[in-house]
Amino acid sequence: MEKRDKIYEGKAKVLFTTDNPDLLIQYFKDEATAFDGKKKGIIEHKGVLNNKISSAIFKLLEASGIKTHFVEQQSDREMVVKKLRIIPVEVVVRNLVAGSLAKRLGMEEGATLKNPIVEFFYKSDPLGDPMINEYHAREFGFATDAELKLMTAGALKINGILSEFFDKRGIILVDFKLEFGEHKGEVLLGDEITPDGCRLWDKTTREKMDKDRFRRDLGKVEEAYQEVLRKVTEKI
Ligand code: 5GP
Repeated sequence: MEKRDKIYEGKAKVLFTTDNPDLLIQYFKDEATAFDGKKKGIIEHKGVLNNKISSAIFKLLEASGIKTHFVEQQSDREMVVKKLRIIPVEVVVRNLVAGSLAKRLGMEEGATLKNPIVEFFYKSDPLGDPMINEYHAREFGFATDAELKLMTAGALKINGILSEFFDKRGIILVDFKLEFGEHKGEVLLGDEITPDGCRLWDKTTREKMDKDRFRRDLGKVEEAYQEVLRKVTEKI
């Protein structure tokens, strides 16, 4: 499938139209940003690694009954996806205390939660993705009640599938962010599932294998993404 017009360029990906009006090409870049774009850098080969990691995970989710925008991996950096009307609510699922949850509530990182926590954030770069709840989403028309219900149930199901998948590969799925969108009346999982938007810790050493290595200047960022790709594509 051929790329036509660039319709969107984000911090990590570019979207192009194709000859099929229902399909887009999602192109993965090496650029990395953190702290609402205040920190910028390049993670060598990140685009290729994230395209492969995300393709493998979308395939796994589709095989487990989750509807996603994924059609196929077309090349090293390109994925064919269904065109979505993005619902501007990011859904975060947490299994352990980390990141903004630790900061917001003054907690140490690392405690395991008794039950997963689902949080919503309004997808807005200028506002830095503020946290919202169902009332805000409904009031301001970011998502309908039906969409929120589907996204919450989908996010928890995805959490179950991925937690088990990573656990078998010696990785703890600490937390992750999902984006959903509407395609022909259906709510589909969109965006990507990669170490850019997931916290992944080695089960034995608790070493970070995700974008926190970039955010916190821990070094060996590309190596960590390589290792995640190796584990995600490992046949066990
Ligand atoms: P936190 O709220 O602790 O910063 O993030 C929770 C989880 O969601 C982390 O795994 C983080 O990587 C992911 N996440 C939250 N917001 C974003 C975002 O705007 N972009 C990306 N790539 N990931 C995000």
